[in-house]
Amino acid sequence: GTLSIAAILAESARRRPDAPALHFMGGTVRYGELWDQTRAYAGALAARGIGPGSRVAMLVPNVPDFPRVYYAALALGAVIVPIHLLFKADEIAFVLEDSGAELLVAAAPLLAEAAPAAARTGTPLTTVLAPEGLEVGGHPLPRLEAEAAQAEPIERYTSVNPLDAATVLYTSGTTGTPKGAVGTHLAMVEQVHVSLIDSFPMAADDVVYGGLPFFHSFGQMAVLNIAFRRGAAIILLPKFDPDEALALLNRYQATVFTAVPTNFAGMVEAAKRNPDRPPLRFAVSGGAALPVALLEAFEAAYGAEVHEGYGLTETAPSCTFNMVGEPIRPGTVGTPIWGVDVAAADPDAEDRIALLPAGELGEIVVRGHNLMKGYLGRPDATAQTIVDGWFRTGDLGTVSADLVVRIVDRKKDMIIRNGYNVYPTEVEAVLARYPGVSIAAVFGVAHETHGQEVHAAVVPAEGAVLDAAAVVAHMKEKVAAYKYPRVVHVVDDLPLGASGKVLKRELVERFGARAA
Ligand code: ATP
Repeated sequence: GTLSIAAILAESARRRPDAPALHFMGGTVRYGELWDQTRAYAGALAARGIGPGSRVAMLVPNVPDFPRVYYAALALGAVIVPIHLLFKADEIAFVLEDSGAELLVAAAPLLAEAAPAAARTGTPLTTVLAPEGLEVGGHPLPRLEAEAAQAEPIERYTSVNPLDAATVLYTSGTTGTPKGAVGTHLAMVEQVHVSLIDSFPMAADDVVYGGLPFFHSFGQMAVLNIAFRRGAAIILLPKFDPDEALALLNRYQATVFTAVPTNFAGMVEAAKRNPDRPPLRFAVSGGAALPVALLEAFEAAYGAEVHEGYGLTETAPSCTFNMVGEPIRPGTVGTPIWGVDVAAADPDAEDRIALLPAGELGEIVVRGHNLMKGYLGRPDATAQTIVDGWFRTGDLGTVSADLVVRIVDRKKDMIIRNGYNVYPTEVEAVLARYPGVSIAAVFGVAHETHGQEVHAAVVPAEGAVLDAAAVVAHMKEKVAAYKYPRVVHVVDDLPLGASGKVLKRELVERFGARAA
C-alpha cells in the first residue's frame, strides 16, 4: 500500500480551504493558503534535488514556516529531521552528519549556531524568516521563500510505503550521545487516528494551544498533526510565557490546551494575574509526571479536566492515556491506547523480557503500532532497546490487572540513599501540596556517607515566601525518614529544556558542586 503523513495537511486544505489553520502574531493562515505555500516550498526543495528518502534537517521554531517546511519535505517522500532549538553548533553538526542530511532549513535568527554546523559538515543551507537582501560573508543569504517563487509548485504529494521513514527525531541525549529514532508514516498516521478516536477527540471548530515545540515528538504529534488532521486551528507561540499564553488563549477563545507539567504550573500562576479564562473543553498533560496537586490547581483555575498521558519519542509518542470521556485516575497515566500493549518487566533481565505479574514494580515495556523502526545507524542500541518486539522505556512503574499504568520514575533518576530507593516523582507530588509551592524538582546529590542525598528545588507561587527550613521540617512529617529532602533550595525558576521539561542534571550540577 501507499500512504503519506502529508495527507494530513493536503486533505484538510481540500475539505476546509477557508478554515483557519494557524493564528500567529495577530494574523491568520487558512488551510488552502497554507497548502499552496507548502506546495511552493516543496517545489523549491525538489529543485534542490530533494526527493523520496532524502533527509531534510530543519531548525525552525513554532512559526507558520514550521508546517510549511515539514509537510513540504514529507510531501516529496523525504524524511524530516527536526533539530532541537537549543542545540549548539557542535550538536547540530552531529545531527546533520549522523542523519546524512542533504539540506538544512534554518530559521535566520538561529543562524549563529546553524551556519557553522552546515559549513563544517558541508550541508547545503537555506533559510526561513530571513529579511530580503541579507548577506553573509559577502554572499546573499539563500531564502526558501525566494527559491519557491522561482520554482514550480508540486501538484500533489508523493505516496510512500507506509513503513518508510517519515521522521528522525533525536533524543536530547541526557544519557550520552543523541540517537535518532526513526518514525514511520504508518506509526504516525495510526497515532493520529487512535488519538482522535479514543484519547482526545478534537472537533474541526476546536482552537488548540500550540506552544509545545514542534521539533519534539509531543508537540509535533499531539498538537500539529492531530489538530491538522481534524482541520482545527492552532495558536502558535514560539516561546512559552504563561501570561502571553493566557492572553492568546483568551484572544482566540482556545478550547484545547496540551502541555508539559511546568507549563501547567505557569498557567496556574498566570491565572492569579489575569481574571479572563478561555473556554477550554479539556487539557492534556504529558512528557513528565503531573503532580495531582497541580492537576487540581489547574482544574480549579480553568474549569477544564486535565487528561494525563504517557509516552516517548520512540513511541510516536503516546502509549497510555486518561481518555477524554472516561473517568480520570489522577496520579496514573491511564490505560494503554488502542492497539498498544503495555506491561512491567524485570528491569534486571537485560537480554530478555520477563513480564511481571500485575501490580508489580518493574520496567515499563511497550509493543504495538506506535514503535519506531529503530535508532538510525545503531543496530546495537536498537537491539538492546527492542527485545522480542517489546520496547524498553527506561521508566519504572506498575500495570494493574485492569491495565491502569502508574509511572514511578525514570530508572536513571532514582536516588539511592543509604541503600534505600527514593523516587523523586513521589516526593515532588508531596511537595506540590505544600502551600506556596508552585513547582518542585527532587534530585540526588553525591554524598560521602549516604551515597546520595535527597535535594529539592522549589519555586514559590505568586506572592508566596518560602522558608527552606520550614519545608524540610514539613516534609520530614509527611514522608519516611530516608525519603524527605534534607536540603531544600528556594529558587526563582527551574532549568527547563526547550520542550519545557525540568533539566535535573543541571540541578545536580548546580547544587551538587556547592554541597561537595
Ligand atoms: P532524552 O531525549 O534525553 O531521552 P527524554 O527522556 O525526556 O529526553 P522524551 O522522549 O522526550 O525523552 O520523553 C520520554 C520520557 O518522558 C519517558 O521515558 C518518561 O520518563 C517521561 N514521561 C513522559 N510522560 C510522562 C508521564 N505522564 N509521567 C511520567 N513521566 C513521563
